[in-house]
Amino acid sequence: MPRLFVNSDLVAGTPFELDEEQAKYLTRVMRLGVGDAARVFNGRDGEWRAEISAVAGRRAEMTPAEQLRQQPAQGGAPLTLLFAPVKKSETDFIVEKATELGAGFIQPVITERTQSRTVRLDRFEKIALEASEQTERLDIPLLADALGLDAALESLPEGTALIFCDEAGDEADAPWGGQSGRAQPMAQVLEGLKGQAAAILIGPEGGFSPAERGFLRAREGTHPVSLGPRILRAETAAVAAMTLWQAMCGDWG
Ligand code: SAH
Repeated sequence: MPRLFVNSDLVAGTPFELDEEQAKYLTRVMRLGVGDAARVFNGRDGEWRAEISAVAGRRAEMTPAEQLRQQPAQGGAPLTLLFAPVKKSETDFIVEKATELGAGFIQPVITERTQSRTVRLDRFEKIALEASEQTERLDIPLLADALGLDAALESLPEGTALIFCDEAGDEADAPWGGQSGRAQPMAQVLEGLKGQAAAILIGPEGGFSPAERGFLRAREGTHPVSLGPRILRAETAAVAAMTLWQAMCGDWG
């Protein structure tokens, strides 16, 4: 049965109109007609089996018939992904994978070395929606417009641990440089962050600047972590860090 995200309230027996693209998808692409069913969810009212109750030209209406799944109570600690936009297809990949891996909030961050500064929020929303539909999530992640690093960190809810993915140690003379300043292995750090809301921060292709690294390292509630001895591409680092967090602190247990 096709699965669609809709904005309307889902109430048994109360019809709602599909947007044109979804109407086209169901009636033309899937060739469904009045009486045929699809699964629908809106991020609030769980998942429903809904029947097409009217089709007229490009318009179609559905009526929720039966609730298939209840909206889950917010399970486990929430995960935020803060990432510096990279090239278009890699950024799309990050948004898609963050959705699949259960991030509740996705925040693009413009850092000093961020090359791609135009953020297409509508495009991200579409990707997150499609990934939510595909992945059977009943909620969709919230996407925010890009912010500078300071503002993005300030916008985090209080008590959120910042997991700063830092390929550190590159500045031998800086306080965080050399062997002593190396970030701790991420798994080790997560042992101490179970049950706590977390935000994972991933830098751009060029990494963080020394000023940013100094600022981040001095910030309370920041945990610089290492993802091992290899420098990963930003999109790989994002997936690796979210995976490890879900396994150790999230809802995979
Ligand atoms: N050009 C930079 C690398 C940037 S990689 C350099 O050579 O130093 C992009 C981002 O991925 C980094 O800012 C960091 O957030 C994350 N990342 C990549 N590899 C990592 C690692 N081994 N440990 C922690 N974070 C890593």
